[in-house]
Amino acid sequence: MDKKLYLYNTASRQKELFVPLHEEVGMYCCGPTVYNYAHIGNLRSYIFEDVVKRLLQSLGYKVKHVMNITDVGHLTSDADTGDDKMEKGAAREGKSVWDIAAFYTDVFKRNMRDLNISEPSLWVKATDHLPQMLEMIRELERKGFTYKTSDGLYFDTAKFPSYGDFARLDIENLQAGSRVDMGEKRRVTDFALWKFSPADKKRQMEWDSPWGKGFPGWHIECSAMSLAYLPQPIDIHCGGQDHVRVHHTNEIAQAEAATGKRFVKYWLHGEFLVIDNGKMAKSGEGFVTLDSVTKEGIAPLAYRMFCYTAHYRSPLMFSWDGLRAAAQGLANMKKLIAADALAAAGKAADEGIVDTLLRPFWEALCDDCNMPLAMGSLWNVLHDKTISAAEKCRAIERADSILALDLLKHYEAALNIQTINTGHVRYELVSKKAVDPATSEKIMGLISARNDAKLRKDYAAADAIRGQLREIGVEVKDLPGGKIQCIVNEK
Ligand code: AMP
Ligand code: ZN
Repeated sequence: MDKKLYLYNTASRQKELFVPLHEEVGMYCCGPTVYNYAHIGNLRSYIFEDVVKRLLQSLGYKVKHVMNITDVGHLTSDADTGDDKMEKGAAREGKSVWDIAAFYTDVFKRNMRDLNISEPSLWVKATDHLPQMLEMIRELERKGFTYKTSDGLYFDTAKFPSYGDFARLDIENLQAGSRVDMGEKRRVTDFALWKFSPADKKRQMEWDSPWGKGFPGWHIECSAMSLAYLPQPIDIHCGGQDHVRVHHTNEIAQAEAATGKRFVKYWLHGEFLVIDNGKMAKSGEGFVTLDSVTKEGIAPLAYRMFCYTAHYRSPLMFSWDGLRAAAQGLANMKKLIAADALAAAGKAADEGIVDTLLRPFWEALCDDCNMPLAMGSLWNVLHDKTISAAEKCRAIERADSILALDLLKHYEAALNIQTINTGHVRYELVSKKAVDPATSEKIMGLISARNDAKLRKDYAAADAIRGQLREIGVEVKDLPGGKIQCIVNEK
């Protein structure tokens, strides 16, 4: 790894050099509660997490990315009072909780695809993991961290002395100034591990437990599911900044009390998308979904571009004008690239030059994912008339593996790019005009023969075949990732 990555760790309130604990980097991201559409504020958090993941992958790390789907237990109040958001959503729509969960999970996954947010390695659904949650609660009970009230089993935060450290909480003051109804809770910060089903109401989702029929608290879901799939300490845990004070503070308390080990090494939190200085929230006005963006004739990826106008740790003010300006910026960028792509067809880029061009881009990203700076450096490349079209295009191609803005779609449309997968070799034909079938077949035969020669380590034969390809006007380039590019020059 020749590039050093620095990430801001909420735990230390500092940028830290990223040194993973495991060969495969474990990354857990708090996923959606599927009782309603995700708003574009939620999606801002998932875009920032996707950039971090793509950056890690570009730097050569293998990443195991786990994301949960909360389909039970997230109450409308952080103080463990109020309704279960899922049951409330089901009542609102006159459907079952299971139907609501399935519907909004599908919509969420569609939003992710539309925004080019790559799928996690593993989706984990809360209702599929009751045994893991019950086991963690039992362990907490065995170790003396719980107490029972008439409405549930609670985590006793007084027994976990470092409880307030992560969020820098002043617990004494919180306790003194607490205006929330504490019920039978001993301390304002105590939270439910297991809630009992109300005696007077039949819940749609409930399970038996050693303490009584009920359902898990929201926080235990993430502690139990993350540790079920990722080795402890988990390398990276992400979420929106609202999770610092309660959800992640509680996740740490449960996981560390149950296991006696550190839970997570790097905590990353994204700032909010705001409207008129308030947070965009599912319950508030001005709730904008990705569907409402497309209804305005704005492509989802313009929203991804819009997110890059602010650092992920700065609030981003949403406005339709701002979003339209980002859409225009994206269109301008693609237009410039398409022009370069036409000029570059048939010319191979010098990868060393491209490395130099992209140095500021990588430096900005490796400094805690500074996206506005990274985008600025890319505009500089595009506007620089001294850089050849081939090198510009290649630089954009490599940058887009992080940006995921489909910057080369124009390029692919402007040229004829045909990707061919023969089973053991993957290559693309790049040409200004369509390649006729006989030439295409001839190229395929030669590429296969060259590949076989390379596998036999017969490099002289492989070079001779490269020469034969050149004779018919085809320049061969080995791209990173094993793909071969064949640039078919016009005769
Ligand atoms: P939820 O579905 O409410 O659990 O939220 C899903 C994710 O979106 C969490 O990581 C939240 O922290 C994050 N989030 C909620 N509101 C916003 C907002 N206005 N801007 C950015 N992220 C948000
Ligand atoms: Zn979570």
